[in-house]
Amino acid sequence: MDDGLQPLIAGNWKMNGTGAALSQLERLATLLEQAGPRRPDILICPPATLISRAAETTQSTPIRIGGQDCHPAENGAHTGDISAPMLADAGASHVIVGHSERRADHGETSSLVRQKAQAALAAQLVPVICVGETEAQRLAGDANRVVADQLAASLPDAFGDAPIIVAYEPVWAIGTGRTPTLDDIAAMHAHMRLLLAARFGAAGETARLLYGGSVKPDNARDILAIPNVNGALVGGASLLADDFFAIIAAA
Ligand code: PEP
Repeated sequence: MDDGLQPLIAGNWKMNGTGAALSQLERLATLLEQAGPRRPDILICPPATLISRAAETTQSTPIRIGGQDCHPAENGAHTGDISAPMLADAGASHVIVGHSERRADHGETSSLVRQKAQAALAAQLVPVICVGETEAQRLAGDANRVVADQLAASLPDAFGDAPIIVAYEPVWAIGTGRTPTLDDIAAMHAHMRLLLAARFGAAGETARLLYGGSVKPDNARDILAIPNVNGALVGGASLLADDFFAIIAAA
């Protein structure tokens, strides 16, 4: 993070949390208030059932609320799905799209991810677009190509006034306690920066590139100090306010 970009620390609660978990947001808000005004941008993406209550709980705090996925259509016959305008109406400002668990569990392709990102932008939500290779792809020496292909196909051509946020999340690092080496993260983030700058110009140079995959309080400082790492997308360690706050403090 040597580039002066305001970092973003984002939490993905995945399919965890009922109303009782809102107390973690209250605790996080208290910790942030005690820590003073210098802080990164902070986003929590709870399950859809909690978005509107989470938005109410955090309305006078620096914590922003996001969705974990959206449908590409505005509305219609899509039982169980949630559209981007619905997330915005519930109080979300951001939405994660293309998380590897959605790509794996629901067969989401990069082309669908791009449509979801476009739907988010149309609803004035900031998409957080996830990419990342599997372990087999990395071992085969294919990580750079896979990520380049995912970026090319998952990102819309135009973001309007919205910032570009991409999360590099190696699939094999998610929820496993394993992370790439600091050099490997640095190399991948430099690779993504070059690709985004070539495609989007200045907007690519100021895109925020988050690292995600087993970020914890004890490794956050080293990871967040890597050039072109402009924040983190955090799963497990975002569920407890004290752990998440330790990562925020590292930024
Ligand atoms: C994630 O799901 O986006 C993630 C990074 O999870 P974890 O931090 O638990 O590896």
